[in-house]
Amino acid sequence: MSAFDLTGKTAIVTGANTGLGQAIAEALATAGADIVAVGRTPPVDTRFAVEALGRRFHDISADLSTMEPIGRIVAETVQHFGGIDILVNNAGIIRRNDAVDFTEDDWDTVMDVNLKTTFFLTQAVGRRMIEQGRGGKIVNIASMLSYQGGIRVPSYAASKSGLAGITKALANEWAAKGINVNAIAPGYFSTNNTTALRADEDRSRDILARIPAGRWGTPADIGGAAVFLSSSAADYVHGTLLAVDGGWLGR
Ligand code: NAD
Repeated sequence: MSAFDLTGKTAIVTGANTGLGQAIAEALATAGADIVAVGRTPPVDTRFAVEALGRRFHDISADLSTMEPIGRIVAETVQHFGGIDILVNNAGIIRRNDAVDFTEDDWDTVMDVNLKTTFFLTQAVGRRMIEQGRGGKIVNIASMLSYQGGIRVPSYAASKSGLAGITKALANEWAAKGINVNAIAPGYFSTNNTTALRADEDRSRDILARIPAGRWGTPADIGGAAVFLSSSAADYVHGTLLAVDGGWLGR
């Protein structure tokens, strides 16, 4: 399946130490890519899995709630692997509270990680891809709340709706340069992000009842979409949100 082959490609994955980011890094490495993992927590298990597949792995420690790491993420990746072919903007956080009690910190912290740093890291990587002149793939990890409002997560809904907008805006600018900007919109997956939801019996039951597939997603369910959007199989796919949701949106 050469259209899905990522051999020789370098992929940056943010938040690759756990959950969906870890599964995406492993799927890209399985398809042949070398991995640069960016995040706050050492990606020990991800390194082990990627290196066991025979791919190269580099870890960049970075707090993505600030702009500080952006320059060095690009510089270190180029220094280690010679260029950047794929960026997966996966790192993200969520804060839950009633709208009337939502604090400025709940707003800013989520918007900074999920939207501001994501945009400026994408800008820096996009500049590099344009200079390289060989195109590239950018995959943003959006959400069902790129389409819907959710419950008690207003800054998360704002950030993920904004991320859908940025995905389309950058696709419009960069499609003609051979850079594909797309997003994956995961449904409800069993990860740290949804611990509170799964602990709430009523919410957990209601969510499950609406998923046509009859189960929550597991991180392994996300890899195929990430490989597709990172590969030449998606060369004519621009500005789309690919839902991987067990059918949630169709319900
Ligand atoms: P998770 O909490 O396990 O992973 C989040 C990742 O982001 C972690 O690696 C964490 O270290 C990293 N991160 C958070 N803040 C950071 C910061 N300031 N600096 C560096 N790294 C930071 O949850 P997950 O479900 O794997 O989430 C991954 C992405 O998927 C997120 O963008 C999330 O919004 C999105 N998503 C998840 C679900 C779901 O059901 N789990 C659904 C839709 C979207």
